[in-house]
Order: sequence, then structure tokens, then C-alpha cells
Amino acid sequence: MKLLFVASECAPFVKTGGLADVIGAVPKALDALGADVRILIPAYPALSEQVSAATVVLSFADLFGGPARLLSVSAEGLNLLLLDAPHLFDRPGNIYLNASGEDWQDNHLRFGALSLVGARIAQGALGDWSPDVVNAHDWQAGLVSAFLQQNAQPAPPVVLTIHNIAFQGLFDASAMSELGLKDYLFTPDGVEYFGKLSFLKGGIALADKITTVSPTYARELIAPEFGMGLEGLLSARQSDLIGILNGIDLDVWNPETDPDLNATYTVRSLKQKAKNRAEVEARFALASNPDAPLFCVISRLTTQKGLDLLLDCLPGLVGQGARLALLGSGDTGFERAFIQAARDYAGSVGAIIGYDEALSHLMQGGSDAILIPSRFEPCGLTQLYGLRYGTLPVVARTGGLADTVIDANLAALSADCATGVQFSPITALSLGQAISRTCALFENQKVWTAMMRRAMRHPVGWDRSAEAYMALYQSLMPTAGAAD
Ligand code: ADP
Repeated sequence: MKLLFVASECAPFVKTGGLADVIGAVPKALDALGADVRILIPAYPALSEQVSAATVVLSFADLFGGPARLLSVSAEGLNLLLLDAPHLFDRPGNIYLNASGEDWQDNHLRFGALSLVGARIAQGALGDWSPDVVNAHDWQAGLVSAFLQQNAQPAPPVVLTIHNIAFQGLFDASAMSELGLKDYLFTPDGVEYFGKLSFLKGGIALADKITTVSPTYARELIAPEFGMGLEGLLSARQSDLIGILNGIDLDVWNPETDPDLNATYTVRSLKQKAKNRAEVEARFALASNPDAPLFCVISRLTTQKGLDLLLDCLPGLVGQGARLALLGSGDTGFERAFIQAARDYAGSVGAIIGYDEALSHLMQGGSDAILIPSRFEPCGLTQLYGLRYGTLPVVARTGGLADTVIDANLAALSADCATGVQFSPITALSLGQAISRTCALFENQKVWTAMMRRAMRHPVGWDRSAEAYMALYQSLMPTAGAAD
């Protein structure tokens, strides 16, 4: 099975969120099942090392305003196809935003180019390798099907994966002609969305199958409060919409070997976690308190993540002797509020604003619990890392959070299956109660330790989900021996 992934991020090379982790991990799990996966991503500056080691496999005299090349290279166990188009991708800073925090003005051209080249590869441009199935990820790859449709050549089936429907790639209708898209695609059945060009909507409308990253989010997406304007289309395509839960890379996220920890540990040496906790306390200027949990947050600071609810809960959290270490970046309002909270509750609340992969590993290794009060969460990865590191997730009951954490209610505790705490409705009151419940559980160290061990044994790898993706791809292949 030859598979082409088209995506805008891929860990460990370039990452702004969970999408990158998924693109960096699933291909390895699919390779293990016998698939040949190639990942098409832009050659951002972060990939310059890979560019210099790569081979040119295709050239474009003019790709939306400048020359471009397609390069092939293997790195970190992944087969990459790099779209080297300096006029589109050779820019400093964030891959989506300019220095003022606004979308790059030509994002339609940048990711239109990515989608177009994905379609060209799918239709045989590489000569010696063309995919059986294309898996396009998020809005940045949403136009693959549109470009395939307007080119009268045989095309493989396309799966579109929605990692977060909040990001849709909506542009002025004039982008149609700039991208060379034909008018007949600009309809409600195609790429048009209320008079604009929507990459994601076009992807959903025209793909053969649509997946999203958890079964609960797949169900939620057809409701207005989660579908963000695309719920009608998704309801119409419900029979083609499948939720496949994300996993994590068990080699990268492994408390037994993690080089970013002060002390590595296993289910049998949980006491080692104390050395990591001491380091987290030092880095965040927190006083230690063995009687109450150390909570952490590792997150984009946006309204989606529900961190305004957490701000409301800080007096209660601190009042119970608990502490909070927060690592994140995003909306300046949230950044300022958490810096202020760290001042107001010095020694009990610590905040580091920024993006720091190594510190995020240390926090998973050194905290007692991880707070994820998201208003919606397609899958969420930090709760999966939390499970693996015995850092018990305290999560809102939504999307993938609902699918991965077993709430420590009385039934789950007496059946020995609890792995964390869930709360609903998603309000400050209910989050506050969840924090109190977590503090009470922590007081009973026997129960807490049993939960930690159970969490660490909970399966969070890709095995099962990779099989589900594989079964989906296979279902799209023409059946062997079927009559023409
Ligand atoms: P989303 O994709 O919505 O941001 P996920 O939970 O799916 O949320 O994935 C977030 C990923 O980004 C995780 O790997 C998390 O550890 C990482 N992350 C988020 N913020 C930071 C940060 N400030 N520093 C380091 N890693 C971060």
C-alpha cells in the first residue's frame, strides 16, 4: 500500500501543535504494517538540513509566483517529499503567521501550492512512485481533491483528516483564479462557503472519506456548537465520517528513556519522579508541598483550551495547598494573565511563556497531574503523554479527552480502572470541583499510586489506530478480481 500524506507540519522538524506529532508518528506505525508512506511538507527554514541532503525529483518553473522544486529525503525514520519554494516558505518565525501575529497574506498560495503538488504527485508526476491513496491533513491540504478533479487524469482516492475544525482556511473568492481553480468548483457542493473559498470545506465535500481524530469528536462535529458552520455538510457526509483515535510515539514519549528528565522511571520506580518534581519546582519558582498535588498545563493559550476557567479556579487551587506550573504561548491576554497570577500567587503558581519541547517533557515527568479544561478537543495529546508518564489527566469531558481518560468515580475506583478525572459541564465551577476531587484523591497515596500505575499501563500507542487507518485505506482500493 503506497500512501501519500500531505500536511503542513511534521514532528520533529516543524511543529505548532498536535498535527505535527501525528504526522511524525503515524507513518512509522503504518510502515510496520507494510505500508510505504511518503510525507509531502513545505521546506520551511527549519528543514534546511534535510534540504541539503535531499535529491531533486521534480521542478516547477513557476509555482504561484516563483520557481520551485520537489525534493526527496529520508530523515528520522520518515520518507519526506519537501516542497522547496523559497518565495512561499523561506520565512522566519511562525509557519502560519507574520511577525505581527497575523496570517501571512499569501497563505492561500502557500498551502494551495502544497495541495496542488500533492495532486500532481497523486496523478503520477514522479513517474516511478504514485500513491494508492492520498491522506490530506487539515485545511492546508484541503484542496488536493479539487486539483485532482479538474485535471482529467485517473486519480487515487483521497482521505481528508480533520485535526481541528476551528481552522478552515477561508479566503476571498478572488483566490480561485489566483490558484487556477475552475469556476465549476465554486459551488455549495464544492469549495464555495458563503461566497468565499474554503479549503477545509472543499476538502470535506470532495474527499472520498473523512476522518477525525477521536470517535467522540466525530459525533460532536455534526452538532452546531462543535461543527463551526460545517455541521450541515458533515451531517450529510456522516456515513463517510470516521473517528480514529490518535496515539503517541512511544519512543519519543517514554519515561524509562526520556533524555529530558532528571530521573527516568518505570511503574516500579515511581519514587524517581520526585527528582523531576524538584526540578520543575525550581524552574517555576514553586515552593514544595508533599501533601498536595503539583498540577501542570502545557498548552496553546487560546479560548479553545479553557484556560480562562482555570484562572477563575486559581484561588481554590492555591487554597488547597496545590501548585500550578504553566508552559504556554498564544493570546497575549492569557499570557499576561498567567504572568500576573504567578506574581499574585508567588511560590504556588509559576508561568513560563514560550514554546519549549524539552521543558514539556520534564513537566510530564515531574508533575502529579495535568489540567486540560478545553471547551472542545478533537483528540488532545498532552493527556496521553500524562497517562504514559503517570501524570494523571484532569480533563473536560469532550472529544478525545472523553475517549482516553477514565474518570475516578466510585464505580471506576471500585472496579480498579480509573486513570484520571473528568468534568462536565465545562464551567469554572465544575473545573474547581474536579481540582478539589483531584486533591482529595492525592491525599490517599495508595489510591493515587494505583491510578498512576494503571495510567502508565493504559495503551496509548498507535498500533490499534494504525490498523484502523490501514483498514480504511484498503476499503478504498478496487477489490481484487472485481469485474471492470
Ligand atoms: P493542539 O494541537 O490543539 O495544540 P494537542 O494536545 O493535540 O493540542 O497537541 C499539543 C502539542 O503541542 C503537544 O505535543 C504539546 O506537548 C505541545 N505543546 C503545546 N504548547 C507547548 C509549549 N508551550 N511548549 C512545548 N510544547 C507545547
